Amino acid sequence: MKGRRLLMIPGPIEFSQEVLAEMAIPTLSHVDPQFIELFGQALEKMRKVWLAPSGQPFAVAGSGTFAMELAAANITEPGDRVLVVHTGYFSDRMADIFRLHGAEVDIAKSEVGDLPSVEAVRTMLRAVPYKILSITHVDTSTGCRADVRALAAAARETGALVLVDGVCAVGGEELRMEEWGVDIALTASQKAIGVPPGLALLVASRKAVEVFKARRHPVRSYYADWANWLPVMEAYEARKPAYFGTPPVNLVRALNVSLGQILAEGMESRFERHARSARAFRAGLSAMGLGFVPARPELYANTLTAAWYPAGIDASVLAHIAAEGATLAGGLHPAIKTRYFRIGHMGMSDTGEILATLGAIERGFAKAGFRFEHGAAVAAAQAAYLS
Ligand code: PMP
Repeated sequence: MKGRRLLMIPGPIEFSQEVLAEMAIPTLSHVDPQFIELFGQALEKMRKVWLAPSGQPFAVAGSGTFAMELAAANITEPGDRVLVVHTGYFSDRMADIFRLHGAEVDIAKSEVGDLPSVEAVRTMLRAVPYKILSITHVDTSTGCRADVRALAAAARETGALVLVDGVCAVGGEELRMEEWGVDIALTASQKAIGVPPGLALLVASRKAVEVFKARRHPVRSYYADWANWLPVMEAYEARKPAYFGTPPVNLVRALNVSLGQILAEGMESRFERHARSARAFRAGLSAMGLGFVPARPELYANTLTAAWYPAGIDASVLAHIAAEGATLAGGLHPAIKTRYFRIGHMGMSDTGEILATLGAIERGFAKAGFRFEHGAAVAAAQAAYLS
């Protein structure tokens, strides 16, 4: 697609040609045997991508925010205690959703660009019988990644369910749902999963489904109620027709193709490739003298980078970068919104796209009047790839 700008925001991302082609195929009936087969395959593949062999997958029309509600609504009952690991804009949203569904929410606080320590979270978990620990794997507002493995282990010590908002992580960041003892991991189609926006995706552990089945109160949502969706998901996997709400047929087809591509690459290679690209990308920005929003290197996410504008530069540089061929995202966290920008590098993003984006960033910054050694970012990224 010559002449087209690269979409390098933290979702929606660049999609593969094969995925886009699925979107253009004449839409089948949602109970056509051919579609039932594709939907069943997609659900089976979700288990493999989430590394949750005994998990229960859900794929429902909606954005990532709906996936958050599809999780919280079904495992929260009035008065339940929930501990939310504070990461930024999206952990605040998760806390709001839990409160709406009747939970008493406590927050393990942190500063902007930082996360509470695992020790601090463990101490809080031991002090109160929390039912759920909620973790935003990568908070897209700051580019910080939580240590899901360690936090989940701390929750296991107290028996709390572990919910992971993996909207900016699943399919890019290392997540071993079953091995790490995660009970719900949710995402949306438009990020590292590599499918246009519109699908809320979630895998629940057996324990989470049991907790749902043992509920004493009705779910406070009609559309999100697992009682409506569980039979549909089970039916499609058993290759039987079912209906609750019309599935987005072409998105599900596209999901099946994209998950197939992810699995063909292999989860280990995929985690490694995202880490490598993120390192190369950061090396490029560092070579221009830019710094990053996350407070410490171990917090740097592999799916996106959040970088501070250097002195004399503001959000107007993004238009220059777009004119040079790459669409990036501005700030999102309200406390620092005007001071930083964000670049997504997940999913299909390959070496060429990373280097092309750094090239566009160099030209855009140069046009905005920023003084730096031209070519330094691309060279540093190349060096990182070759090291
Ligand atoms: N959680 C995280 C971590 C996200 O990055 C996003 C989207 N940027 C959401 C939730 C919400 O997803 P959506 O915009 O698709 O509703």
